[in-house]
Amino acid sequence: MGEEGEEYLFKIVIIGDSAVGKSNLLSRYARNEFDLHSKATIGVEFQTQCVDIDGKEVKAQIWDTAGQERFRAVTSAYYRGAFGALLVYDISRRSTFESIARWLDELKIHCDTTVARMLVGNKCDLENIRDVSTEEGKNLAEAEGLFFMETSALDATNVKTAFEMVIREIFNNVSRKVL
Ligand code: GDP
Repeated sequence: MGEEGEEYLFKIVIIGDSAVGKSNLLSRYARNEFDLHSKATIGVEFQTQCVDIDGKEVKAQIWDTAGQERFRAVTSAYYRGAFGALLVYDISRRSTFESIARWLDELKIHCDTTVARMLVGNKCDLENIRDVSTEEGKNLAEAEGLFFMETSALDATNVKTAFEMVIREIFNNVSRKVL
């Protein structure tokens, strides 16, 4: 609940090619924030995380495609009502970086331009087989007006930071609108 009984609940979607680490990013984030129990994720479409932003409790409902993208069929329902999006590629697989343009197009079709967007280069622990430079990620993010971060769901590098930057940006956008 916010100061005057307001509740902040924002939907965030994770998109990107199959096997870039979307599910692991979400479970890494959720596990760090909450408990150590590993729950079955089959059939689970989203997880809710509570974050304190400037003394306000903000809930982020974070959606995972649960493999829908394998069939190139992420439904419009998946995107509906999203305030934020993480566009994920795998730094060790160039084709997943090249797909980002398509994911951006899809996001533009389904969401309005105010959606907070972050480009995420996951698997940065795989430096020895890196296929996309940090510079390329940065350049694309700059050209498209996205936040950018390289993460590793495996060793937890920047996972919390990435999600919480998006959550904070959404919160700031909404606060600006209210003022
Ligand atoms: P999704 O299909 O995008 O949800 O991808 P998954 O989360 O299922 O991950 C696909 C594969 O990549 C699995 O074998 C994961 O163990 C592996 N993986 C995910 N994140 C990382 C990471 O940060 N580093 C490494 N080395 N492997 C990862």
